Amino acid sequence: MTTGGGGDMTVDALVIGAGAAGLFCAAQAGSRGRRVLVIDRAAKPAEKIRISGGGRCNFTNIHTEPSRFISGNPHFVKSALARYSPVEFLNLLKRHDIAWREKTLGQLFCDGRSELIIKMLFDELNASNVEVRLGVKVSEISKSGEKFRVETSHGTICAARLIIATGGLSIPKMGATGFAYDVARQFGHAIIPPRAGLAPFVFSGAKRKEFAALSGISCPVRAVVGEAAFEEAMLFTHRGLSGPAILQASSYWREGEPVKIDLFAGADGVQQFKIAKEISPKKTLLRALEERFPKRLVAYLAEKNLILSQQGGSRLADLPHAALEEVANALSDWRVYPSGTEGWRTAEVTVGGVDTRDLSSKTMESRLVPGLYFIGECVDVTGWLGGYNFQWAWSSAWVAAQAI
Ligand SMILES: Cc1cc2nc3c(=O)[nH]c(=O)nc-3n(C[C@H](O)[C@H](O)[C@H](O)COP(=O)(O)OP(=O)(O)OC[C@H]3O[C@@H](n4cnc5c(N)ncnc54)[C@H](O)[C@@H]3O)c2cc1C
Repeated sequence: MTTGGGGDMTVDALVIGAGAAGLFCAAQAGSRGRRVLVIDRAAKPAEKIRISGGGRCNFTNIHTEPSRFISGNPHFVKSALARYSPVEFLNLLKRHDIAWREKTLGQLFCDGRSELIIKMLFDELNASNVEVRLGVKVSEISKSGEKFRVETSHGTICAARLIIATGGLSIPKMGATGFAYDVARQFGHAIIPPRAGLAPFVFSGAKRKEFAALSGISCPVRAVVGEAAFEEAMLFTHRGLSGPAILQASSYWREGEPVKIDLFAGADGVQQFKIAKEISPKKTLLRALEERFPKRLVAYLAEKNLILSQQGGSRLADLPHAALEEVANALSDWRVYPSGTEGWRTAEVTVGGVDTRDLSSKTMESRLVPGLYFIGECVDVTGWLGGYNFQWAWSSAWVAAQAI
């Protein structure tokens, strides 16, 4: 790994972007005997791997399947995921003696720090004699004949294969740029407008104040946006709502749409009230709810008339079935209208990107410009929370590496 490095050079393949996808693709292509160079404008490589998964990198998910990805073409991911699956990546970790564990919902994390994954990638790169140059800015890309000519702050690089792996727009503070989209447009590719995904919701006006007062409360919910539904925790924050269920829902959300929150998290609320009434008929409705949900949340919901506030003090035995049903329905179909998401500042991923229509799903090569490849997050493929985005980075990088 060098900072800057200099001089004009010619390689078989130039990878722009030293993140998960770029490094992995370069190592794999290098191991196939290709002369590969990786450049990145940042001073440090793979920063997103380093901070991912709370510092332990949630590097894949054992439930990886096409339905866990958002894309204009839901079939696009199939080939790459089938050819390089989580099992292949686990085999690689085994060869590097990296221990891991499943946390929840099939999410696999390193036992140690995320840096182990970065070290593994660099060990692979070194074994394949791949050079990584950091702090290199690209000023112009052109193609004449079979070769790409890339003008950089450290000289001209010529390559027959150009692999764009510069990621999406999330977390500009960490160096995210729209570089991949600019290159794609330059060569005639369409872009699905990028939006912030896996981002907390923010609210304005009264709701913002109300939720701020509840901040810190977390409870399991089922969050639904359109056809997409996620059963996980929801967290009230000073600006709105967060937590895994909400982050997942945000990737599907469009401005103006409601988010439906089922506080029973998919369970049958009516049935739960029925059982509570049978077991403890003297218990008041409020008390029963306080045993089920956080107290401060119950007080808020009562204030908002979601739970028949005037009857909250009534004993369950005195409440007719219809009244309990009304409460259960209100709590399982609570609709909130975010004013937006926290946006690129905190979004974990970018939804949208280089349109898959003009990319080969088998190799990630452009159908418009032979020798040009797009891999990783810059492509219009976005995984759910839980290791799916890194799996896409590995899978798309691997298939490209077999073709270059
Ligand atoms: C806080 C956070 C936590 C996350 N945790 C997880 C997790 O646990 N599991 C999971 O699956 N996903 C996680 N993700 C998402 C995951 O990090 C990304 O999907 C993944 O890193 C994408 O890999 P990539 O190689 O395509 O892009 P990146 O990893 O973003 O790499 C792109 C590289 O390109 C470089 N670059 C950008 N612009 C230019 C330019 N103009 N010129 C040259 N180089 C450039 C950047 O410096 C960077 O090194 C997380 C994301 C964030 C922000």
